[in-house]
Amino acid sequence: MIDSPATRPQIVLQPGRSRRFRSGHPWVFSNEISMTAEAKALPPGGLVSIVDAGGERLGVGTFNPHSLIAIRLLSRDSDTVIDEAFLAGRIAQALTLRQSLFPAPFYRLIHAEADGLPGLVVDRYGEVIAVQANTAGMEALLPLLLPALETALSPTAIVLKNDSAVRKLEGLELYDRVERGAIEGPIALEENGAHFFADLITGQKTGWFFDQRDNRAAVAAVARGRSVIDFYSYAGGFAIQAALAGATRAVAVDRSEGSLALAAQSAERNGVALECARADAFAEMERLTAAGQRFGVVVADPPAFVKSKKDLAAGSKGYRKMTRLAAGLVEAGGFLLVASCSHHMALEAFAEEVRHGLSQAGRSGRILRTAGAGADHPLHPWLPESAYLKAMLLQLD
Ligand code: SAH
Repeated sequence: MIDSPATRPQIVLQPGRSRRFRSGHPWVFSNEISMTAEAKALPPGGLVSIVDAGGERLGVGTFNPHSLIAIRLLSRDSDTVIDEAFLAGRIAQALTLRQSLFPAPFYRLIHAEADGLPGLVVDRYGEVIAVQANTAGMEALLPLLLPALETALSPTAIVLKNDSAVRKLEGLELYDRVERGAIEGPIALEENGAHFFADLITGQKTGWFFDQRDNRAAVAAVARGRSVIDFYSYAGGFAIQAALAGATRAVAVDRSEGSLALAAQSAERNGVALECARADAFAEMERLTAAGQRFGVVVADPPAFVKSKKDLAAGSKGYRKMTRLAAGLVEAGGFLLVASCSHHMALEAFAEEVRHGLSQAGRSGRILRTAGAGADHPLHPWLPESAYLKAMLLQLD
C-alpha cells in the first residue's frame, strides 16, 4: 500500500456531525459521513482523508464502508504519510512506555486505539510476538506493520492470531498462522517474577492473559499461609504466583487438559507444588462444597459469559452463580477474587451480580480492590467502554 496525502480519497462528514470527533474521539460512525456512491465503492480498510462539511481537513484514517465504525483515526494531521516509518513511530512510542513499566519483555505491546493503532493488538513474549489485526484497516496495513515490528524487535517468530470473532463485523475471515520464523512448543514468559509457559499456537487468545498481571499480584499478596484454589486457571497464572508467595496449597481447576499441562509445567519450573484438577468449574465448586472443603483464597476468572448483547441476561446469571458457589468455598476471613472479561457487561452490572451472589451464599464481607487490566492495556479516554476487564478482590467474614 502506498499512501499519498494529495491523492488519498476523501470522506466528508455531514454538516454538524464533527463535534465528537474533533473533541478527541477516534472514530467516525457510518451515519455521520456522506455515504456517496464513490465512498461506498472504496475498498474496505483503505486510507482516507477526513474532511468536515466546510472542507476543513481533520486527519487521516482507515475506512470501511461496510462497518458501523466507518473511520478509525490514524493521525489528525492529514499530511501525515501512512507508511512503515509512521507505524515504526507508533511502535517505538508503545515500546518506550512498556519498557518503563516492566523489567522484562513480556507484555501487551500495542493495545489498539490507546496506542494510536486502531484495531491492532500485539503481545510480546521476548523474541516471539503475537499479532492480532481486528479491522479491515489494520489487515490492509499488515504488510507495512510486520516489517516495522521486525525492525523494532528483531523477533525470531511472528504469529498472526487473526481468529477473533470481531473480524467478522469487518468482513474479514478468521485465520491463525506462523507468519515469520518458526515456533517449537510452548513459549517461556515471566510475570511478577514467576515463570510461565504459553502455547501461542493452540492456546487461548494470544497465548497468555497479560491483562491480569496486577490482579495476580494482588491475590499473591494475600496468599501467604493460606490454601488457594484457582478456577478457570488456564496456564496457572493466579495459582502459581500464589504458591510462590507462600500459599500452603495451590489447586488449579480447568476443563482443558492442554491448559493444565502448561500449568503443571510452569509449577515445576518455579519449584512449587500445584494440584491440577480437570473439571467443569461449577461442578467442581459444588463437589468441593458438598465435601466440606474450604480455602483461604478462591479465584474465579472465567471466559466471557456474555459474548454478545443478547447473552446479557443469561451471562449475568452465570456471574451470580459463580460468585455464590465460589464464595461458599471461602473460609471465614479468607479472600475471593471474581473477574469478568465480558465486554458487554459494565462494572456496575458485574458488581451487582457479585453482591447478589454473596447474599445467596449467605456471606458478607468487604471489597478490597476493584480493578481492570494492567497498564500495558491502556485505554483511549474517549473509549471508556473498551475497559472490558473487571476484577474484584473481597475479604469474606
Ligand atoms: N484465569 C486465567 C484465564 C482464564 S481463560 C488466567 O489467569 O490466565 C478461561 C479458561 O477457562 C480457559 O482455560 C478454559 O479452558 C477454561 N474454561 C472454560 N469453561 C470452563 C468450565 N466450564 N469449567 C472449567 N474451565 C473452563
